[in-house]
Amino acid sequence: MSTTATKPRTPIRRLPPLPPPEKLYHPLRKRFQLVCFLIFVALPLLDLMRVDIPGKRFYLARFELEINEFAILFFALMFMMFLIAAVALFYGRLYCSYACPQMIFSEWSRGVQNRTRKWVNKRLASLGPAARATLAAVIFYAVVGIASVFLAFVFTSYFVEPRDLVRRLMHFDIQTAGGITGAAVTAITFFDFAFLRQRFCTTVCPYGYLQGVIQDKQTLLVIYRDGTGDQKMCIECGKCVRICEMGIDIRNSPYQIECVHCGDCIDACEQVLRRVGRPGLIHYAWGEQTLAGAAEPWHKRWGFRDAKRAVILCVLTFYLCGLGVALSMRRPVLVQITPDRSVLFKKLDDGRIANLMRIKIANRGRSPVEVRLTADRLPGAELTLDPDPVAVGPNQHIERTFEVRARPWPGSSQINHFRLLAEASHESSPQIFEMTFIFPEGDHP
Ligand code: SF4
Ligand code: SF4
Repeated sequence: MSTTATKPRTPIRRLPPLPPPEKLYHPLRKRFQLVCFLIFVALPLLDLMRVDIPGKRFYLARFELEINEFAILFFALMFMMFLIAAVALFYGRLYCSYACPQMIFSEWSRGVQNRTRKWVNKRLASLGPAARATLAAVIFYAVVGIASVFLAFVFTSYFVEPRDLVRRLMHFDIQTAGGITGAAVTAITFFDFAFLRQRFCTTVCPYGYLQGVIQDKQTLLVIYRDGTGDQKMCIECGKCVRICEMGIDIRNSPYQIECVHCGDCIDACEQVLRRVGRPGLIHYAWGEQTLAGAAEPWHKRWGFRDAKRAVILCVLTFYLCGLGVALSMRRPVLVQITPDRSVLFKKLDDGRIANLMRIKIANRGRSPVEVRLTADRLPGAELTLDPDPVAVGPNQHIERTFEVRARPWPGSSQINHFRLLAEASHESSPQIFEMTFIFPEGDHP
């Protein structure tokens, strides 16, 4: 917390003013936050990342996956886990201040509260202070209430189909599990952004504690550097403390758990000290030694500062490639064919031999498909799949048994290898199943 009240003021030696800083982090952070907010909204609404719990489905990059599609889920989860750890190791808590929805909406809520207060005080100056405070609070809570409905909608649509949610919202559904969940999330969101805000980051959120475990001597920090005695440059203006939304004084230590590395105190100090002809005293730095922005090779400036980071990048690349391969190999129509060997073969009245097969078809896409089966390398074979082709609706699973019928041909043996080709409409290549056809012993030429 602030220590400005107890520190003696250092006499200010004025020098000619410096030009304003070329780079301010606050506007950069706000632009980045806007992009992250748009991504947060787009992910569930465009099916880029969403878990549909009632439908037992997972959406990733518009691919509709079944919860049991393990390879894709495994690579996706491992990639996300390593990404979170890598960001914490490389860039400290930059995620918290630049990208986390909790921080974006907490700062937005605080900004709305301040602007509402100012607006009411300016426009309704004739009212008494108590009336103005009450009116400002009512307007603020109304705005946060409306925003909470929208945010709860976006958040819940990570888990429930958005169109289904709209229907529930239109009917004010607070009776079904989905409706009750939506109402509860709205209430929690309102409480969070009206009252809790950044206190959530320092009390509940585990990311800050995780950061303390993961960071090392090269992790990005916000650091205060000043001389001592006559060389001391800080003018004790306290602006870096007042601007800090987390309520800390960065001059005490760069390792305070509350610090989210937002850089607002850097901007504040630059703006104050440059007016008296000095550069700011607070900086981003790679550990305590190297200021960010120092003349270094590009990979160091991007945070790739040692072999450990290179290894983590390789692991991340591995999981990303695995995810890409798993997604590219995925078929929207999954066909499984297995022989039913409860009876090895059946003799038909017309002298042909029948082998029994079992087929399962899962349509994991959003449009109906038709699956046609053909036999290959089994001369004169007939399949009794009925109907053929089989029509399968979106998200439908079908299971059938059918016979493969054939006569022995010159050169056939008791066990004959052949292929079944399952060709789904919309798919360019058939799925191929290597099978065996069994004739009775001595029943072939
Ligand atoms: S100390 Fe500075 S960087 Fe850390 S949270 Fe406060 S304003 Fe942001
Ligand atoms: S803003 Fe800079 S000069 Fe002012 S108190 Fe903070 S560190 Fe010192």
